[in-house]
Amino acid sequence: YRALVLLVISCPCALVISVPLGYFGGIGAASRKGILVKGGNVLDALRDIKTVAFDKTGTLTRGVFEVSRILPREGVEEKEVLHAAALAESRSNHPIARSILQAAGMQYILEKVETHEVSGKGVAARHKSGDILAGSAAFLKEHGIAVPEPDAPGTVVYVARNGAYLGLILVSDILRPESAQAVRDLHDMGIAKVAMLTGDRRSGAAWVAEALKVDEVRAELLPEDKVAALESFGPKEQTMFVGDGINDAPVLAGAGVGVAMGGLGAQAAVEIADAVILDDSPARAADLIRIGARTRAIVWQNIVMSIGIKAVVMILGIVGLAGLWEAVFADVGVALLAVLNAARTARG
Ligand code: ADP
Ligand code: MG
Repeated sequence: YRALVLLVISCPCALVISVPLGYFGGIGAASRKGILVKGGNVLDALRDIKTVAFDKTGTLTRGVFEVSRILPREGVEEKEVLHAAALAESRSNHPIARSILQAAGMQYILEKVETHEVSGKGVAARHKSGDILAGSAAFLKEHGIAVPEPDAPGTVVYVARNGAYLGLILVSDILRPESAQAVRDLHDMGIAKVAMLTGDRRSGAAWVAEALKVDEVRAELLPEDKVAALESFGPKEQTMFVGDGINDAPVLAGAGVGVAMGGLGAQAAVEIADAVILDDSPARAADLIRIGARTRAIVWQNIVMSIGIKAVVMILGIVGLAGLWEAVFADVGVALLAVLNAARTARG
């Protein structure tokens, strides 16, 4: 009889059911918030996060640019700068390229032009009107072209043709309305550092950083520099990166937890990331960390509860104080309690 009692108690149902169920619940809670989490291990990894780094363009900002000003070199017309830029950008699907085509007119995508896009820098193009470069200051400097620094804020696209500087186009982006709250929430929940990584020029990044009160800004980064920047913030397991995947797929893969923007994000980024934010709101980063912590807490409660109750009833069984009814409670009863507790994770 005692052997039977012990046999019933020692059935590990509660443990076996409740742990995966807790993670399923966590994944369900996340999906209700519009976050696709790719596995229970991701929810677990969130516990160690100390630094959260955001990409700027498309993540903290809307990533929908508009041409705000064109500043040609002396003797060059605005139209000429825009025309050259549109030719170069006609094959790119970078948000900056789209804004330039929008301003110039879509007919440029019909032109015969050979383009070579350098991720995080710009585009080099060959057209019958000449060899065109459109991109960052660093990109033109690489090709031996000196460029002026405008004192207007915003992102700059420098344009050159046949090795001569033509002018620059200022494109502006706006902050996502949720970004400031996202940074505040992360600070409030005890994240040590909120950083921003961007390929944009320093002054294009500074106003965003100031408006959002992020702790650290790294600007003028190429995709591979972003990986190094993230590594400099601490061990991989303690870092989370949130990005739209345009020029930042490598760092999504290199972060402890990589989170991609699902709406705006590139296909490759969505595949590489550990979690995907479907509504593109950066505020989901804090939600995700919160859900991870809650899931873990509930899973541990279940482990401690089921082993604890089983141990107590087992001792009572050995000394003859617990019979089959108590054993059945320690098995099925505890399993049910664990399932009910695990279901709480799903409610977020
Ligand atoms: P972020 O890191 O903020 O998401 P990106 O890495 O997408 O920004 O781009 C970084 C910088 O590279 C831009 O600010 C721009 O100066 C330049 N750049 C990248 N692609 C293009 C392009 N297609 N046309 C012009 N400039 C580009
Ligand atoms: Mg980006």
